[in-house]
Amino acid sequence: MRARMATNVLAPSESTPLTGRIHSLESGGMVDGPGIRFVVFTQGCPLRCLYCHNPDTQALRDGREISVDALMSEITKYRSYMKFTGGGVTLTGGEPLIQRDFTREVFRRCQELGIHTTLDTSGFAHQSVAADVVQHVDLVMLCIKAFDPDTHTRLTGVPREPSLRFAEYLNSINKKTWIRFVLVPGVTDSAANVEGLAQFLAPMTNIEKVEILPFHKMGEYKWERMGFNYELKDTPSPSVAQVQEVVETFRKYNLTVDV
Ligand code: SF4
Repeated sequence: MRARMATNVLAPSESTPLTGRIHSLESGGMVDGPGIRFVVFTQGCPLRCLYCHNPDTQALRDGREISVDALMSEITKYRSYMKFTGGGVTLTGGEPLIQRDFTREVFRRCQELGIHTTLDTSGFAHQSVAADVVQHVDLVMLCIKAFDPDTHTRLTGVPREPSLRFAEYLNSINKKTWIRFVLVPGVTDSAANVEGLAQFLAPMTNIEKVEILPFHKMGEYKWERMGFNYELKDTPSPSVAQVQEVVETFRKYNLTVDV
């Protein structure tokens, strides 16, 4: 049975310092938001994406525990380069929203220090969780796995609706958002899936750009190491022409696209 998402996994208390579970930290991230970023890979994810690059972040019980105070001490060591490069702090995963209180508190403390905050998420969360965390987020990178409902469920093990509602919520509060879409030949590349997503996003005025991420198998070795069956082992990366076709579909709806 798939893990269900916990919305209040770690609650703050006055006597116990707030902690969260993380997989790892990276101090020079270049692809997880603007500038050079301090990236926190949180532990735990309710999705089971067939192409997951970090399957070792999925189980919440794994990873290591860290207090918000200890994490903030690490983050503040890199404050000057973050400021100099227009960077900041990104929480990714795993799924940062699964540890709502920890994630919110890290973002809140960063903003207090004037550090730019980015949430990298699948958006699979209740709106109350989203609102609680997003109030302290400068930029959301929302990965919409698929627009077609059956494709979404097959690819991730969960329905698409929470992610789509999350996108609509971000638009309703005009939160700056980058959409991410992984192009997987034979899975997410159908015209109906791509066009449906472009149509869904087109009216949203908060979206700065759509990033098309061509599928690759960089995480495959981790699946093998963990004894999991990597179903996409025979799936190729998309060709330049396939990527271009998808780019053109999004551009047709006046969306700015990055590859
Ligand atoms: S949402 Fe991200 S971390 Fe979670 S299973 Fe999918 S790719 Fe992996």
